[in-house]
Amino acid sequence: MKRVLIFTDLDGTLLDSSYSFHEALPALDLTRERGIPLIICSSKTRTEIEHYRERLDNKHPFISENGGGIFLPEGYFDLEAEIVERYAVTTEEGYDMLRLGARYSDLRRALGKLRDKGFSVRGFGDMTVEEVAALTGLSPDEAGMAKKRDFDEPFVIDDNEGMTDELFSEIREMGFHFTRGAFHHILGNSDKGRAVEIVIKLYQNALGDVKSIALGDSPNDFPMLAKVDVPVLVQRTDGRHIQGHNVPNVILQEGIGPAGWGRAVLRILSGVT
Ligand SMILES: [Mg+2]
Repeated sequence: MKRVLIFTDLDGTLLDSSYSFHEALPALDLTRERGIPLIICSSKTRTEIEHYRERLDNKHPFISENGGGIFLPEGYFDLEAEIVERYAVTTEEGYDMLRLGARYSDLRRALGKLRDKGFSVRGFGDMTVEEVAALTGLSPDEAGMAKKRDFDEPFVIDDNEGMTDELFSEIREMGFHFTRGAFHHILGNSDKGRAVEIVIKLYQNALGDVKSIALGDSPNDFPMLAKVDVPVLVQRTDGRHIQGHNVPNVILQEGIGPAGWGRAVLRILSGVT
């Protein structure tokens, strides 16, 4: 039987608008009982994801900042020399870390250049903890964690939202990528899909054939959904699914955020017992 892997987004998917995963608990318990790796793949930072891993009692690899970094618990995989070299794997603070994303300092510099060109953009690095907390609804502690960034910078446009198309083409011309949303993100040549593909390969090397499931709610999840066997979109807070995906076999799961997450995982796992 193929081993199952579950990749999941956090905000709006496993977490509801008040950052709770309560409604997904029965499905989370089942994944734990079956020893199914649950791999968090989020735009959140390493520190934020560590906080949720602890609450979820999760000891599996995770992907931070929209695919910027892959964190493998040290020794989780026996990494081949070729992988170590290709992704410049470093081992620190208990992780083997693969860097796929840009350097944070380069992203901060790029936002500065955009401001010089008249775009009123402000990144998390320009904001106080209190501002990030007010904008995101995070507690001050969590907002502090959200500011500790390595590979990706969320930003807002203060007073020229009408110029977003020009702004995003400037970002492209500077050689960076972006995602759009309640917060826009500027990042390097990394996305959730590239990172998920690498993690799937590592599991295949270790376990043989795997069946990969991924759950998301937003455009930044599309690249991840495109790389797995069973892609799932949960409903957003307005009760709709995000439009515009081009993932052919995606499951449009009924249920908002963690409610949809739980239903989808219970149903899919009941088919693979
Ligand atoms: Mg999300």
